[in-house]
Amino acid sequence: MHATAPVLLVEDDEGIARPLAAALRTDGYEVLRVATGAEALERAAQGVRAVVLDLGLPDLDGVEVCRRLREVAPGVPVLMLTARTTEADVVVGLDAGADDYVTKPFRLAELLARLRALLRRSSADDPGDRGPGAQDVRLDLDARRAWRGEEELQLSPKEFDLLAVLVTDAGRVVSRERIMREVWDTTWMGSTKTLDMHVSWLRRKLGDDAHEPRYLSTVRGIGFRFEPDDGPVRGHGDGRSG
Ligand code: CA
Repeated sequence: MHATAPVLLVEDDEGIARPLAAALRTDGYEVLRVATGAEALERAAQGVRAVVLDLGLPDLDGVEVCRRLREVAPGVPVLMLTARTTEADVVVGLDAGADDYVTKPFRLAELLARLRALLRRSSADDPGDRGPGAQDVRLDLDARRAWRGEEELQLSPKEFDLLAVLVTDAGRVVSRERIMREVWDTTWMGSTKTLDMHVSWLRRKLGDDAHEPRYLSTVRGIGFRFEPDDGPVRGHGDGRSG
């Protein structure tokens, strides 16, 4: 029902709101930007898909906004932006009722992965699903842990972020540009050698084969695709099933 409704971004800091809105749009979301709690409540009541809510707003306290959102937009996931880790206890507490939070300064990759997980959780209607996954690979974004089957993967922070971006969009091509922006917080494409190295390390840890990948396919000239639950689609009449 809300799949095409906008994501409501509530943030008065232009320096955070502008790049974040741009990243959300690039990720395919409709974005509605407001800078005050009052506007947020008004727009949320008209129907939104999710709310990304800054805790420090000029008019109303973010916790209060979150509480009132529960009344005007029940069931809509709320991702809170907080300035300090100590605030996190408050915003995810039962009082405020935020579904998740990220601490400023946040990495775009983390925020987008958490938002996707929230949307997936709310649409899948499966409260037991803690994180994204594809095939036998599962991630826990809160704990920053990943598993292949029963085996936990030992990943570096960047490897984890890279895997998170790819797995949350399993079955779809993720462009090099997007990966550089979300995982390395840069639009500088001169350093994609770094990306290729991380992909290669990730493949090794997944036990994957670059030439006949089960998990991580290279889409030449564009980016990478984590293969979905039903496995890689082989072209050119290669009928092997995986
Ligand atoms: Ca603020």
